[in-house]
Amino acid sequence: MTRITFALIFLMFLSLITTTSLWAQQEEPLRIVAIGAHPDDSDIQFGGTAALFAQMGHAVKFVSVTNGDAGHQEEGGGMLAKRRMAESDEAARRLGIDEYVVLDNHDAELQPHLHIRHQIIREIRNWDADIVISHRPNDYHPDHRNAGILVTDAAYLVIVPNVAPDTPPLESNPVFLYFQDRFQKPSPFTPHIAVDITDVFDTKIQGLDAHESQMYEWLPWTAGMLDQVPDDPQDRIEWLSEHRTRPITPEVRQALEKWYGEEHAQNIQHAEAFEIAEYGSQPSDDVIRRLFPMLPGTE
Ligand SMILES: [Zn+2]
Repeated sequence: MTRITFALIFLMFLSLITTTSLWAQQEEPLRIVAIGAHPDDSDIQFGGTAALFAQMGHAVKFVSVTNGDAGHQEEGGGMLAKRRMAESDEAARRLGIDEYVVLDNHDAELQPHLHIRHQIIREIRNWDADIVISHRPNDYHPDHRNAGILVTDAAYLVIVPNVAPDTPPLESNPVFLYFQDRFQKPSPFTPHIAVDITDVFDTKIQGLDAHESQMYEWLPWTAGMLDQVPDDPQDRIEWLSEHRTRPITPEVRQALEKWYGEEHAQNIQHAEAFEIAEYGSQPSDDVIRRLFPMLPGTE
């Protein structure tokens, strides 16, 4: 064996050891599931944070509890559901997330029925979720409200083996979070966690742009502004960015200051905030920083 060959083998051995130890140090990817009532809710509420998780190598799934077959002024039924499923797949691709599951329950008719609770329990278990996010059970839309109830009802039962016994239970309760909303009664939304999505705001808008039937047809129609939607694709993106910029409330700004420090928080232009549900695992601040690795560490 020449000296050079020996050196090469030694170097290969060294790199193998380094790679293996790095691998061992790396923690398992986090597993997050966002459960919205309709095929665009998770994107609107959580699209930016989801893109950040995905960019960091974590596993994100969106679930829509209904198929969205009522969400249009001219279309409806199975054809609309199919269109929205295709839009959801495209949105998932643009956000970089792993899956977008659309459950085949009718839109605008969602009830907190047992079989749907079991569908949700199975989705959470099959994903082996660390974090579950959904609507609060107070909301203007009955589907949002009932999706919130269904997910809340699943929060404890995901660990109970005799419930939906065809799907193995989780060993421990995930953390359950709520999307941000503006409703004040019976209690206003509390932003326990706030994430700076300024760097991925464009990605979030690209994801929303995939929901053409909603962003450019149905939602503007319900708001009486269908005539304001531009035709040109680039103009549409700019229009959507304007209309989908959520003002940062004083409470959310305060949460941003807590997690990012005052100086950084002042410069944040776009944020998504989440409330920790009282059901499911109750995380400490340290656990929240581990579950939301885009938040800066404490030093
Ligand atoms: Zn919705």
